[in-house]
Amino acid sequence: MEKIVIKTRDSVSDILVGAAWEKVKELLPETGVAILTDENIINIYGDRFPEFPVVSISPGEESKKLEVLEKLAEKLLDSGIDRDGFILGIGGGVVCDLAGFLASIYMRGIRCAYVSTSLLSQVDASTGGKNGVNLGEAKNVLGCFKQPEFVICDPLMLKTLPEEEYLSGLAELIKTALIGDRKLFDVIENNQAGILSRDPDLLSMCISMAVNFKAAVVTADEKETGLRRLLNFGHTYGHAIEMFHSFRHGYAVASGMELASGYSLEKGLITLADYERITALLGSYGLLPAHNIPDGIIARLLLKDKKKSGNDIFFVFLNGIGSAVAEKIPVSEAVDFYLHYKPGK
Ligand code: ADP
Ligand code: ZN
Repeated sequence: MEKIVIKTRDSVSDILVGAAWEKVKELLPETGVAILTDENIINIYGDRFPEFPVVSISPGEESKKLEVLEKLAEKLLDSGIDRDGFILGIGGGVVCDLAGFLASIYMRGIRCAYVSTSLLSQVDASTGGKNGVNLGEAKNVLGCFKQPEFVICDPLMLKTLPEEEYLSGLAELIKTALIGDRKLFDVIENNQAGILSRDPDLLSMCISMAVNFKAAVVTADEKETGLRRLLNFGHTYGHAIEMFHSFRHGYAVASGMELASGYSLEKGLITLADYERITALLGSYGLLPAHNIPDGIIARLLLKDKKKSGNDIFFVFLNGIGSAVAEKIPVSEAVDFYLHYKPGK
């Protein structure tokens, strides 16, 4: 088990990678706890939950809306959770987002922690303290920062994750490698059999590497001004593709990373050899579904990017495997690149 500590101005979060989730009981207060989870998790793990009231949501992104938060808050009230209460989210990114959001507004803020059950949330979503719900099709428009007291990332839980969810999370792991950890990239490239069989020791190592990188970024830059922007690599095009094609997040981000790598190549920031390594790796995990957003629509979708300022966006380029840089570019340039990019060039 590795403990990675994330310190921000007013909080400390322990990310426990490789810990057994059943031990969560030892970390919780004796009373006042409510568990927030989704129905899939209840079916698989519910009989081993600690004995506290359980509130649940329907699985999936559809539950990330204010209405659901309101219902959950009512259930917390019914369960007698007061201002000394504690919310434990057990689930993937959606559950952890809602748990953190709810904990930050319920009774003006109560304590919270997560058992993070999906690869996507273990490597990305549950570290960093960002929460949000969607407003129609616009993602995470309403949200806040709330650092959980601890996050358990148990790689054994990933065994029950559906294949597509697992691979979607893997894309986010590859993103971390690309922007910040060349060694992690090598590990993912050289251990495909172990990655695909979800070897828990290998996964623990990869998740630790990813969380360590993210912890360093978040500690340096909690509220996303400079460094933290790099985490958005692949997401500018990725979000557009996700909105247009309704792909799973990681698949859309993988395509976004392919495009951003191609863009970096065009700008002379990376070599053709690096570009080919990146696209070969994404392709070998089946992460590059075809996408084709028509001319008139791509601009509109890119303009929805939350990271834009006026008609410019902060676009994250690579300047090598394991190193990234954010640059302000006009949206029109990103549109042009999308329209003339030919994969494999
Ligand atoms: P994210 O991909 O952001 O983590 P979700 O929280 O929606 O998104 O999780 C993705 C899907 O995987 C959901 O249907 C959820 O119920 C399911 N899921 C999450 N963790 C596990 C797990 N360990 N085993 C089986 N299914 C899981
Ligand atoms: Zn993402």
